[in-house]
Formats: sequence, structure tokens, C-alpha cells
Amino acid sequence: MLHVKNLTFSYNKIPVLKDISFNGKQGENIAIIGESGSGKSTLLKVLYGEYDLDKGHVFWKDEEILGPKFNLVIGYDFMKYVAQEFDLMPYITVEENIGKHLSRFFPEETQQRIDELIKVVELEAFANTKVKTLSGGQKQRVALARALAKQPEILLLDEPFSHIDNFKKQSLRRKVFRYLKDKNITCIVATHDKDDVLGFADRMIVLNNNKIIVNDLPEMLYKNPKTPLIASFFGEFNIINGAIVYANQLKIIESSDLKVVVKQSFFKGYFYLIEADLNGNSIFFENQNKLEGGIEVCLSIIK
Ligand code: ADP
Ligand code: MG
Repeated sequence: MLHVKNLTFSYNKIPVLKDISFNGKQGENIAIIGESGSGKSTLLKVLYGEYDLDKGHVFWKDEEILGPKFNLVIGYDFMKYVAQEFDLMPYITVEENIGKHLSRFFPEETQQRIDELIKVVELEAFANTKVKTLSGGQKQRVALARALAKQPEILLLDEPFSHIDNFKKQSLRRKVFRYLKDKNITCIVATHDKDDVLGFADRMIVLNNNKIIVNDLPEMLYKNPKTPLIASFFGEFNIINGAIVYANQLKIIESSDLKVVVKQSFFKGYFYLIEADLNGNSIFFENQNKLEGGIEVCLSIIK
């Protein structure tokens, strides 16, 4: 359905994306991850047709997505894009923003649609509030709802929950991704937050040094992170004898060759993250209880 083939793009001769190829099926949730500056936002903009490619092609079904050189108006009806910096109309209400591109000839249907989307993004209490008075997170939710108003076939989301506080984030993510699955909308989500990915993404694409370094199921990448960059996305990890070992894969046992001296304990809720010293280097493991600095413990790797 989405077909990206050998996409290469640079800003003023500075390459940002090199030879990017991947496919997306209808209804699939694809996460694009990578460090800040790795080109996630640029990739979404290019997929949207905001820029002309140096090389390569992007197709949605049989239609080629073209940049401004070949297209008078940027964008296509079947595709919506919610930018990292969302631009809304500040002086009209939440409802009016969401309904902005909906038909005025069917006021009842339009109102129903707006009500439905306001529920998805949990803004019922703000329907008639002017957007300029909302917080960043609330605005982000309006931008999401507006992108969904005229149901797209494919939705590009750039760090969609980055401005939303933790109190709301979990339930909002579940609602939005559930909605997209129910409506069979393909979505491409650029993020550096593993919670946007785990439990939601069907595939995960990792960008590094202008290229895709892996494209696989999140479970596969978690279980077999090929590089420290991939492991770091999932959590605290160590490199022991050349192998990547997550902090939660180390546990204290009676005796072993892996003897470490505790440095610090960090409270993490249902566990403590322990920083310890192993021959002058820090090693991290998880433990049920806090440990006093200076004590020696033995660790074993559980797989
Ligand atoms: P990410 O979203 O992964 O943080 P971006 O796609 O925003 O990364 O940026 C990728 C690279 O392209 C960065 O080095 C950034 O400085 C550069 N860049 C982004 N936008 C522009 C632009 N409009 N003009 C020139 N360089 C840009
Ligand atoms: Mg970005």
C-alpha cells in the first residue's frame, strides 16, 4: 500500500535520508525511531510531499506522492500529517478547528463527527474553548482530532504525544491507536519514546546515520538488539563480554564470577535500579530492594 523505494533527500546538499526503502500495509502501525536529528521529521515531511526527493519514489497504492515541483498544492486527501509544531487557528474554538475542513452542508453529520473525535482525544470539557487559551498538550490533541476529521487512509504523526502530560498520555495513546486500528488507517509514527511504540507498533524502523539500520517487529528488536542504539531505546543496558544485557536481565545470586560493588540505588517504583562498579566501569541491574553503597554482590545473567 505504502511503497517507499530508494528515497534519498538532502537539505541544500546536506544528505539527511539515504536510500530509504520500506513498505506499509493498510491499517499497519509503523514506528520510525531514532535519535534527535536522525531525520524522523524529515522523513514524514518527505512522505507527505512537502519536499522534492533527490532520488527514489513514494507511492500510496497506485498514486505517486509528489513534491512541490510537480504538485501545485502540497498534500493529498487520503493522507494527513500532524507536525511536531502543529498549527491551529488560535481564535476559534476546539470544535471549529476540528470541523474546519468538514462540509457545512451536513451540519448534523459534521457535529456528530466532531463529537466522536473530541471523545477520542478526551477534550469534551473544552469543545467550546478558544484554542489560544489551551495548553500545549491540549493543542496537540486538537491537531490530532483535526487530522482525523476527514478520515484519511494514512496518517503521519510526528511525536504525537510529546506535549501531553503523563496523567493523560497512557489512556490517550490507547484510545488513538485503537481508533486507528478500528478504522484500518495506516499510521507512521515518528518518536523517540518507547511507550509510543511498545504494545502499538506492528513494525519498527530505526534510523541512524541517514539510513534505515533495521526494520523488524518490536519484539524481535527487543529480544535481539543488534546495536547499543537499539538497546538504549528499550531501557538501561550493559555490555558484558561483548553482549548486550538489559538491566532487568541481571539478578543477584549467592556466588558468581560477576562480582560488583554497589554505588547507588535509584527508586523506580516497583524496583530499584542499582548502579554498581565492575572493574572501574558502571554496571546497571534491577533489584526489588534498595542496596547500601559499598556492599559487594554477585550477579548472574538471566535470559
Ligand atoms: P528528527 O526529527 O529525527 O529529530 P529532523 O528530520 O528534524 O530530525 O532533522 C534531521 C537533520 O536535518 C538535522 O540535522 C536537522 O538539523 C536538519 N534539518 C531539519 N530541517 C531542516 C531544514 N528545514 N533545513 C535544513 N536542515 C534541516
Ligand atoms: Mg523531529
